Amino acid sequence: MTDYNGVIKDLIAGKWVNPEDKRKYGIPIKKIEIDKSLDGKESLLISQLHPNQNLLIVSDQFTHKALGSRIYKNLQGKVKADEYIWESPSSSIEGVEFLRKKINDYDGVIAVGSGTVSDSIKYATFLEKKSYSVFATTPMNAYTTGTASISFEGIKKSLVAHYAQGVFFDLEVLSMCPKRLTAAAFADVICRTTAQVDWLMSHKILKTDYQTAPYSLLALYEKDMIESASLIAKGDIEALALLTRISAIMGLGTSFTQTTHVGSMGEHGISHYIDMFAKDNHPGTSHGEQVGIATISISKIQNSILNNNTPPIIKPTQIPEQEIIQKLGHQMLDTIHDAMKTKIFDEKRAEMINNFFQKNWLEFVQPLREKMLHYDIIWNSMGECGALRTPEDAKLDSNFYKDALRYARFIRDRYTILDLAGDSNQLDGLINV
Ligand SMILES: [Zn+2]
Repeated sequence: MTDYNGVIKDLIAGKWVNPEDKRKYGIPIKKIEIDKSLDGKESLLISQLHPNQNLLIVSDQFTHKALGSRIYKNLQGKVKADEYIWESPSSSIEGVEFLRKKINDYDGVIAVGSGTVSDSIKYATFLEKKSYSVFATTPMNAYTTGTASISFEGIKKSLVAHYAQGVFFDLEVLSMCPKRLTAAAFADVICRTTAQVDWLMSHKILKTDYQTAPYSLLALYEKDMIESASLIAKGDIEALALLTRISAIMGLGTSFTQTTHVGSMGEHGISHYIDMFAKDNHPGTSHGEQVGIATISISKIQNSILNNNTPPIIKPTQIPEQEIIQKLGHQMLDTIHDAMKTKIFDEKRAEMINNFFQKNWLEFVQPLREKMLHYDIIWNSMGECGALRTPEDAKLDSNFYKDALRYARFIRDRYTILDLAGDSNQLDGLINV
């Protein structure tokens, strides 16, 4: 029997050793099970983690059809559980408050699939101090994170919540999920390359924190996953197992590092910019889809600048205040000055970094090049798995997207290639090709 869990088994047992720092690592989730089918195994998985609990199984109308009804049926006579099909699920604070009342009479909750159901349950059970487990219906990072994405008056916030007791992936169920969701999951993990290069670069330039454990884990499967891109699109079980494992590890990344930098740098900043400022012109694309498009843009910029054997010349940082007021509104200026505080270059700092680059450029870029995937590999594999690759694919206005590339660096305090490109006057040239 194939074991689809790979290194996750060692992480659960707390005995995986990171070859980079020789330290042992564990994770806060008690059980993660990835299998070809979990049909008939649900009661065992649940009763181990929720012994003698009175449970509520929550799904929406889609995930109920895909998996929820089967779970409920298979639990009959074995686990004390009721089911609830959430008709109008919403990962808003109102949705969470609604669920808090629903779960009042129960000891724990089993969430079935979808980001909306899973994140709302994660946050509602966190507030109610009740345990929960989740059965996935798509491959996605969010199941294994300890944070929940909840919106307040339309604005999404990433909130500290808690981890699931168990996270269960039935690959046959995943293979039935809409292709668009699998492609988005692929896009939201292939950004490992751009995030790692940005984070390592920030560490080298600004001496910010940097950790290797999640990257050592992702490196175990990334190459195989990329080579399986077209099989992922076809719903092949082995290929989906790779994507699922990588998504689960990506979600767990934060548990090793206590920060989301591992998988969220320049490319995520662009996606956040789209969500914050597209307003009525937002094409309804998902987080993963936007991150995929942005990863391609960031990869192009990273490859262009860091593969150059001549160092860039850094100039003091210019914040284009008038353009920002005109495009993003006056109230953004405070946010921007705050975000830029630690990464702004004045004359002195620029001179220091230029001296450093003149003497050490090749040694500086060497480790970054090692972590960087070639642009063509990203472009081709995303095409093979059916992901959106350009703003045109997403029906996103191309001028708005260029603004996202130009201004996203100002709204987040993370130092990325967009800052290096901006401060060395290369950004406009790279955006307009
Ligand atoms: Zn993401």
